[in-house]
Amino acid sequence: AADKDKTSSVAKIKVVVRKRPLNKKELAKNEEDIIDTHSNDLTVHETKLKVDLTEYVEKHEFVFDAVLNEEVSNDEVYHETVEPIVPIIFQRTKATCFAYGQTGSGKTYTMKPLPLKASRDLLRLMNHTYRNQGFQLFVSFFEIYGGKLFDLLSDRKKLCMREDGKQQVCIVGLQEYRVSDVETIKELIEKGSATRSTGTTGANEESSRSHAILQLAIKRSIDGSESKPPRVVGKLSFIDLAGSERGADTTDNDKQTRMEGAEINKSLLALKECIRALDNDQGHIPFRGSKLTEVLRDSFVGNSRTVMISCISPSSGSCEHTLNTLRYADRVK
Ligand code: ADP
Ligand code: MG
Repeated sequence: AADKDKTSSVAKIKVVVRKRPLNKKELAKNEEDIIDTHSNDLTVHETKLKVDLTEYVEKHEFVFDAVLNEEVSNDEVYHETVEPIVPIIFQRTKATCFAYGQTGSGKTYTMKPLPLKASRDLLRLMNHTYRNQGFQLFVSFFEIYGGKLFDLLSDRKKLCMREDGKQQVCIVGLQEYRVSDVETIKELIEKGSATRSTGTTGANEESSRSHAILQLAIKRSIDGSESKPPRVVGKLSFIDLAGSERGADTTDNDKQTRMEGAEINKSLLALKECIRALDNDQGHIPFRGSKLTEVLRDSFVGNSRTVMISCISPSSGSCEHTLNTLRYADRVK
């Protein structure tokens, strides 16, 4: 019962917005910061034109679970989002943390440090509170690009997904590393991130069109015996989503780009529907809508937690994308 209390004290769905600082390029173009933030609400000041071409400002107000401004550090982001979930992973919880936003809004900057901080805390619990109880930590890292899966820890080997009939998803051939120290995890994260961003063409363009998924799984061997394969107890997934603006590439001249845009659009819509279904405690969760939601299927059922970090640029030039991101985040809850 004590364990149950522990899990129920952590919100099922948390939606957080992170605003990054204006960058050099935006400052050089004299773009203004149009976002005012408070502890859990924010206002976007959108400049519009009247029919007679005079300017006026329209204000858009939003309320979230937390709004993190440009002065908030990555440590504080961790504290606000993933840290409260770490202890309940040992109580059979599957949790997912998403970074959503347009390309350049700070998704990777926000997401990349989180798994390392989480694994440091998971290892600390394994080595103290749960010492000698047979828990093990595993890391895997893959991406979904154009609806297909690629292993970021083994040279982008193509992977396929299978369901085992018990609603467990299995990614055939995915490399999983058993880890027991933070240094090894750090190396794996660096390796996977480098594989992702260089991709096949070496263009950074690629990473904005893929969803990167890093999973930390806590497993336990039954009655402590090493002979049987350990079973998954809980899982923590970190998802650096494709640039949200890419979902609009459906009118591009290039056929490949159009197809990828349609796939991204489909997956972000399906994701929103799945998270909404979680919140309403509906029996039916529409996983089948996309590869992304199918892969995450086992993280949406049972005792699950979701954190959505919506990343936004403060600049006037990004106003439209920022409003789209905030509206998406607003609809998730
Ligand atoms: P995305 O992954 O959404 O395309 P990035 O995470 O790559 O965006 O961020 C774009 C640029 O902005 C990077 O150079 C990154 O270092 C910088 N940046 C993003 N967020 C912040 C922040 N909160 N503070 C300082 N720099 C940031
Ligand atoms: Mg990125």
